[in-house]
Amino acid sequence: MDTDVLVVGAGPTGLALGIDLARRGVAALVVEQAGALFPGSRGKGIQPRTMEVFDDLGVLDAIRAAGGPYPVGMIWQDGRRAGEHRMFDPAEASEDSPYTGPWMVPQWRTQQILRARLEELGGKVAFGREVVGLTQDADGVRAEFASGEPVTARYAVAADGGRSTVRRLLGIGMTGETVDPNPTLVADVRISGLDRDNWHVFPPGGDGDGFLAICPLAGTEDFQLVARFPEGTTPDLSLEGIWKVVAARSHLAPQAVTQVRWASDFRPRAALADRFRSGRVFLAGDAAHVHSPAGGQGLNTSVQDAYNLGWKLGAVLTGGAPASLLDTYEEERRPIAADMLALSTSVHRGETRRGEATRQLGLGYRDSSLTQETRTAPTALRAGDRAPDGELDGVRLFDAFRGPHWTLVAVGTKAPALPEPVHGVSGAEQATYSKGLFLVRPDGYVGWAGDTGDGLRQYLGRAGL
Ligand SMILES: Cc1cc2nc3c(=O)[nH]c(=O)nc-3n(C[C@H](O)[C@H](O)[C@H](O)COP(=O)(O)OP(=O)(O)OC[C@H]3O[C@@H](n4cnc5c(N)ncnc54)[C@H](O)[C@@H]3O)c2cc1C
Repeated sequence: MDTDVLVVGAGPTGLALGIDLARRGVAALVVEQAGALFPGSRGKGIQPRTMEVFDDLGVLDAIRAAGGPYPVGMIWQDGRRAGEHRMFDPAEASEDSPYTGPWMVPQWRTQQILRARLEELGGKVAFGREVVGLTQDADGVRAEFASGEPVTARYAVAADGGRSTVRRLLGIGMTGETVDPNPTLVADVRISGLDRDNWHVFPPGGDGDGFLAICPLAGTEDFQLVARFPEGTTPDLSLEGIWKVVAARSHLAPQAVTQVRWASDFRPRAALADRFRSGRVFLAGDAAHVHSPAGGQGLNTSVQDAYNLGWKLGAVLTGGAPASLLDTYEEERRPIAADMLALSTSVHRGETRRGEATRQLGLGYRDSSLTQETRTAPTALRAGDRAPDGELDGVRLFDAFRGPHWTLVAVGTKAPALPEPVHGVSGAEQATYSKGLFLVRPDGYVGWAGDTGDGLRQYLGRAGL
């Protein structure tokens, strides 16, 4: 085999997976059809759970430095500021959840940061490599490219976005619906004469034209312009086309827009791949689920798909875990994606506010076959839940979890002897963890919980430990 894992697509999913595999010493190749990384801002909201994932992947400081909080919305009417609009329900940082609101970083910048981290770990992206064919047998996968030599790998991951070629080559269908038949234009623009303290919202006027919103992109001099168009029309993505929209829907002089740096249009759909796996090939990110961007879930869910799959591929390829561990990827991620689709559609239709659910901190795997709760009287934190941050005997838990290992958290009870790859942290009873033993998976979820260490060794055997 040329490599252990072939990752198709260098979007947020492929890059995050590349990082996770590289830090586990798994040989992986990320191939990308384009000649460079994606240049647009589209997935600009990084949710608190993804901030935690980024902390573990070693990019949090760069992500923090590159972005900023979302500005407060400002509704404009007839050229006047008509009132503020709070887009997100407020949330307070706490010891167990250090990140609160979404953090704004344009997607192109996030991808640059992920790529730099991948390269720092010795990985790389092969650009100009478009996958056009894929076959597999019991031992591996063989990918054909539009140009260049084929690549063989033990596993492949389709991280090639909503129009996934790999998904089509595998014959996996998408089931879903159109969320909004009206096309939406999204563009990164330079504008003079508009302040950067607000997300400027211009509600639809009496002329029947749709809504316009212009958001300053943190860490840049650009704004993200979003405009909804009537059904059946095709938005004009040129500078002149954007001048017309700005002239018709705002008080701004059209020429205030001086540059269009990137523009695209889309019609929101909510659809889920019928399967997330076919033999040795896995679907992740937008290749597995597409939805309205309204809830700011896509990039986040995609990165978290990669985070779920990375350690399992690593455990099977280098850690001696049984191949059946990989079955839990679809088992765990498909229900999460299905719920996320419903949430995004609901936010799009104005039925749900952006708040607790969109922050993604409550997601977990309680019903997974990989989850074992053995305590006789479980407390609020159960096996399957996200392992919260906190402090135990002077050690910050997220510091203890950071890295590709498992961690046993022993709270108010003695930890049993553990195989060497499992790290340990212990301390007196505390509020979030209460009391007990909590085995935290490499992706930061409690896999197993017990009053004593009975059954812990057998559980670890499933992960090859
Ligand atoms: C307007 C808008 C706003 C959004 N806002 C948010 C937000 O606030 N928060 C959020 O979480 N998400 C948001 N999203 C969604 C987010 O952009 C996507 O979910 C995210 O990009 C998915 O990442 P991905 O890596 O799975 O796919 P992509 O980013 O689509 O990357 C796929 C990559 O695969 C490459 N590729 C495709 N075919 C092949 C092939 N055959 N061979 C090799 N390479 C291939 C592509 O060139 C591309 O680089 C938004 C989306 C839009 C459109």
